[in-house]
Amino acid sequence: MVKIHSVETLGALDGPGIRTVIFFAGCPMRCVYCHNPDTWQGGEERDERELADWCVRYKPYYGADGGVTLSGGEPLLQRDGAVKLLTGLKERGINTAIDTGGGIFCPDALKLSDLTIIDIKHPDESVFKKITGVEQTALIKTLEFLRTHKKRFWVRHVCVPGLTDNAQDVLKVKAMAKGAEKIELLPYHTMGVHKWEKLGLDYPLKGTPPLGEEKLRELNELL
Ligand code: SF4
Repeated sequence: MVKIHSVETLGALDGPGIRTVIFFAGCPMRCVYCHNPDTWQGGEERDERELADWCVRYKPYYGADGGVTLSGGEPLLQRDGAVKLLTGLKERGINTAIDTGGGIFCPDALKLSDLTIIDIKHPDESVFKKITGVEQTALIKTLEFLRTHKKRFWVRHVCVPGLTDNAQDVLKVKAMAKGAEKIELLPYHTMGVHKWEKLGLDYPLKGTPPLGEEKLRELNELL
């Protein structure tokens, strides 16, 4: 069984093509700018086989590029469930993707993924820990594994004004992302703040403005 926060039947943002996105509950990280803190706890227990069968009904919509993305929270926190679900999807001929924050190293799941989308929250070890609350080890191992096994992967980096939008850091992210098919810089936004308030949590980045378009354009030029 696997604990699921929610499912988006036909999304177009988490990986190529039209995809079903399965948001796993639970995350080992506590990113200061998390826009999904409601996924940290709770969730509904689902059977992996039943979930894979359910995805089959959307197969006609996936087309050549689409499929199913495991997201979260952190999908790799529930290692066994993630591996079982990915195996079930592959058996049913469905393209798979994992959207991970880089907090858990799970080679068995990575092997079963056609595409891994991985965040680099910050290139420096100490700042990484300050932002996420965890060590960088799992991220480094995952990136190494993806390169060694010639797996397809994309890297994402959220640019927060004054925290992760420094040009030198973005260049370091680029170096760490060696082998990635693409690097996406995501502008920090404040759309998740109300979720923190709703959960009775103090939002650590109170007062930080969203990243401006001009700054994002400048940073993208570095890539
Ligand atoms: S890894 Fe994702 S879900 Fe987990 S705390 Fe960070 S932003 Fe939130």
